[in-house]
Amino acid sequence: MTAEPAPEATCVVCTTPVAADARRCPSCGLARPAARGRGVLARGGFAAVAALLLVVWVVTLVVVATAR
Ligand SMILES: [Zn+2]
Repeated sequence: MTAEPAPEATCVVCTTPVAADARRCPSCGLARPAARGRGVLARGGFAAVAALLLVVWVVTLVVVATAR
C-alpha cells in the first residue's frame, strides 16, 4: 500500500488524474471530470435529449399527417 492515495479516475479531456468525486478538473477546469458515461447524461441531459427527440418526432408526424 502506498501512502499517497492513488487517483481513481482521469479527466476525459486532458487525462489528468483526478479524484473520483472531484467537482472540477484542476488542469482544464472541466466540471465533473471523472464522470464518464454514467452521470454525465443520466440526470438532466438524457431527459432533455429524449424530450427534444420526442418533440421533433411529433412535429414531423403532424406535418406528414396534415400534408396529405
Ligand atoms: Zn481536465
